[in-house]
Amino acid sequence: MSATAPYLVPNVIAGRAPGTAPKLTDVFNPATGERAGQVATATAEEIEAAVQAAARAFPEWAATSPHVRARVMFRLRDLIERDMDRLAAIITAEHGKVFSDAKGELQRGLEVVEFACGIPQLLKGEFSEAVGRGIDAVSMRQPLGVVAGITPFNFPAMVPMWMFPVALACGNCFILKPSERDPSLANEIAALLQQAGLPEGVFQVVHGGKEAVDALLDHPLIDAVSFVGSTPIAEYVYKRGTAAGKRVQALGGAKNHMVIMPDADLDKAVDALMGAAYGSAGERCMAISVAVPVGQAVADALVERLAPKVRTLKIGPGMDPEAEMGPLVTRAHADKVLGYIDAGLSEGAQLVVDGRGLKIQGYEKGFFVGGTLFDHVTPEMSIYREEIFGPVLSVVRRDSFEDALSLVNAHEFGNGTAIFTRDGDVAQSFLSRVKAGMVGVNVPIPVPMAFHSFGGWKRSLFGDHHVHGPEGVRFYTRLKTATVRWPTGIRAGAEFVMPTLR
Ligand code: NAD
Repeated sequence: MSATAPYLVPNVIAGRAPGTAPKLTDVFNPATGERAGQVATATAEEIEAAVQAAARAFPEWAATSPHVRARVMFRLRDLIERDMDRLAAIITAEHGKVFSDAKGELQRGLEVVEFACGIPQLLKGEFSEAVGRGIDAVSMRQPLGVVAGITPFNFPAMVPMWMFPVALACGNCFILKPSERDPSLANEIAALLQQAGLPEGVFQVVHGGKEAVDALLDHPLIDAVSFVGSTPIAEYVYKRGTAAGKRVQALGGAKNHMVIMPDADLDKAVDALMGAAYGSAGERCMAISVAVPVGQAVADALVERLAPKVRTLKIGPGMDPEAEMGPLVTRAHADKVLGYIDAGLSEGAQLVVDGRGLKIQGYEKGFFVGGTLFDHVTPEMSIYREEIFGPVLSVVRRDSFEDALSLVNAHEFGNGTAIFTRDGDVAQSFLSRVKAGMVGVNVPIPVPMAFHSFGGWKRSLFGDHHVHGPEGVRFYTRLKTATVRWPTGIRAGAEFVMPTLR
């Protein structure tokens, strides 16, 4: 792919070469600001064809032995590792994040593939012998059928990889609807799964926006939907999907707070904040966007140490090995973030480092916004209440641990949070009382490992299941419990009372 040769990202639908769709959406290179390619929006007929192909493929895939499905995952793992640099460069070209970070997201996604390699163990059911005379009980988890994944722009590899490895390994067929802003990775994954030996129709990709999502949410042959994206869309997907009788897990937006106690190692807290607030230009659902120093002295020292580091962030195109932060994903998103900086100023926050007006030499049309730091932010301000999803860190000062905890707990989002302290009592109290799904103690971005599960609380998640890990296996399977009596155990005569398995 190159800026001079625009490419087309087709839908990946089983059984036939995807035709040219009538509607094309532009895909940009955020570093240059130029149109890099186009993505074909799936028509209603193409979505229907994908669902039908998945439904046809399901019975045989579901009946495949778990260890055969695991082998596909083992091969996929090796293929992704083989192609890591090539895939990371594609992510950087469409998303804008720096190359090393793109590799990092692939690595975290790969860990879920590795988790799914253990599916024979994970799908082992439960068995109770002799629950009655000559009677055994067995519980098993069976795949749902056709499931869909709808994913955001900010992790074009990792978020789909939170979903499909577990879904496929459990025996489901998967239809991915990735973000239209960086769609290429989804097609690369489809090609690698094919190389890994996945049968046709088991994994497909349909592109598009709301229309494609609605078609998936309403389709009677789709059993479950996993969604990751912004909160208004997550809520919409949850309501519409569950109204159509589907199982839905919908992960939404975030406003993650990091509490810095007076006894914290301040240098370590400052380094942690730099990576957590400005890494990937703040376009992470686990980014820290609010720093909550406890005590005025800590707050003054924190801002004093942060400011020069924010001013000297190395910002450039993602393929520049020196760059610590790349551009934002689109012009529209960069403008939205700049609008929040204006809003913060007019609401009375103190703008310590101003990221507006940044121009990178040779990349003047790129969607760059500089690192931005606000101090004296208050809970009423829109820059505190709303998710900005850019390189903007707000400092909200608090006088006590209890005030800091109340602040975190009062926010409508509850994805991740962290506390920096050396005090075990304080850490333990925070851990047990904070209302968030993922908590870090001296860890700024507490993203769970693949064998645990990822998900927030409050308006950061709609539904009952977190993603990947044991929760992922539960989400993509349904429980069946059998009570089995062999003929020798059957007594003669009908029984009309509630069976008690004597
Ligand atoms: P988004 O909500 O705009 O889009 C997500 C998906 O929904 C995309 O596939 C998009 O095509 C589709 N979509 C967009 N508008 C729609 C509509 N009106 N109806 C139906 N579908 C629609 O999110 P985004 O901007 O791509 O991603 C950033 C957001 O995702 C942030 O809010 C971020 O916090 C969130 N996110 C959350 C997590 C998490 O784990 N909680 C992880 C990553 C990203």
